[in-house]
Amino acid sequence: MPFSCYVFSCTDKNKLARIPVFMSTMIYDCAIVGAGPAGSTCARYLAKKGFGVFLLDRHRFPRDKPCGGGFSYGLLDDFPYLKKREKEMVHGICQVGVVHSPNRKITLRGHVEMAVTLRTVLDSILVEEAVDAGSVPAFGLQAKDIRISSDCVRIQTSPEREIKARVVVGADGANSMVARATGLNRKWQANAVTPCRVAEIAMHPDLIDDTYREEREYHFYANLEGRPGYGWIFPKKNTVNVGLGIVASYASGLPAHFDRFVGFLMREGLLGKGCNLSTAKGALVPTGGTLEKTYADRCLLVGDSAGFVNPITGGGISYAMRAARHASQVINEGLDRDDLSSSFLSEYQRLWYNDFGMSINQMVLAQKVFTSPYTDLLFEIGSRDRTIRQMVTSSMAESEDPRPDAKRLLARTLWVCLREALNL
Ligand SMILES: Cc1cc2nc3c(=O)[nH]c(=O)nc-3n(C[C@H](O)[C@H](O)[C@H](O)COP(=O)(O)OP(=O)(O)OC[C@H]3O[C@@H](n4cnc5c(N)ncnc54)[C@H](O)[C@@H]3O)c2cc1C
Repeated sequence: MPFSCYVFSCTDKNKLARIPVFMSTMIYDCAIVGAGPAGSTCARYLAKKGFGVFLLDRHRFPRDKPCGGGFSYGLLDDFPYLKKREKEMVHGICQVGVVHSPNRKITLRGHVEMAVTLRTVLDSILVEEAVDAGSVPAFGLQAKDIRISSDCVRIQTSPEREIKARVVVGADGANSMVARATGLNRKWQANAVTPCRVAEIAMHPDLIDDTYREEREYHFYANLEGRPGYGWIFPKKNTVNVGLGIVASYASGLPAHFDRFVGFLMREGLLGKGCNLSTAKGALVPTGGTLEKTYADRCLLVGDSAGFVNPITGGGISYAMRAARHASQVINEGLDRDDLSSSFLSEYQRLWYNDFGMSINQMVLAQKVFTSPYTDLLFEIGSRDRTIRQMVTSSMAESEDPRPDAKRLLARTLWVCLREALNL
């Protein structure tokens, strides 16, 4: 039965900056910790069904999330309610992906479209959709502790409040406190997480046109300086996004590596000399695959908190939103039946696994191939074969379901070797 004890109008201009007054005795149907793509999407779907949704985030919106901002254009078909916001959301379509080998001697190019956005814009749009659907926003409020009992969930926050709900969704990113508090993930292993440094650098649109051409080429650099990870540069409307991620066990000195990468891009003519790096920020992205378990009694994890990220590119916006929709569906049924037990909520795990979980598992294997000492050789062989070129470039773009199959890639590589050896 949808929650209907309050009606909260959030259509005023200050809706993103406001913390509502709420009664401590009120029990929300669902409390969602984190209002990134995962949290806002889940909130939007549940609120649309009439449930009482409390959406909290430690930041006030608009807020910037360190990110490349690349996503598949197909996201707009998958979430049609975003189509009306397309003009604000899409800051360009990059059409040609260029992937550089670790020794930078070989480039693989492929026509793989990728839309780009600014996270300040995208996340605010998603939050607005959640609030317009009826979610109660509370921004500038940080979840500090969570207690789950047989009848409800209690969230302690800073500034000090207690929020009660029938179920909680952990959408609080890679460092999820919900995952920690529920024991679903105490800590990522060092080889399962990639610290990144990223900057959104202002550039005149004419200079972007000259540098990245009409096709808006975007670049990926595999394993820079021999460290497993990737660097990227994505041109947008009037900024370029530059980033570098290195798997945590190899990432010491990341800011210095990032500065060297920027220097290299300047020498390559992809960035103007003396560009402003004041926006450079660090953030973690989980790249070791999904958590084994993403549900507990009265709790689900969505998005980065559950490890829903393409381990090759670090892309996770689309997975976060798709998982959030699955979560909302299962929570909707659980609230209706008044069954929010871990065994009922386990259906969520089945849904996301069938949707994209298998694909992420395959990409974990492909990532190991891309970050192995043989990556240069793979590029060398790939440069002589159109199929490998297309497989590699499409796995780099944030395409809807990249599924780079490591076994297929290796089989094709062997076939190319055989083809050349036997002059076929
Ligand atoms: C450098 C970098 C580049 C990336 N580039 C891309 C890309 O180009 N394309 C792509 O698809 N993905 C990219 N990603 C991944 C993408 O950013 C994430 O997969 C996506 O943001 C996941 O969404 P989310 O909602 O799960 O988490 P987030 O977007 O991280 O949102 C989590 C929210 O939770 C809030 N929060 C955290 N803790 C608390 C707390 N205790 N209490 C209250 N609120 C809390 C945070 O303030 C935040 O707003 C990149 C990631 C990084 C780090």
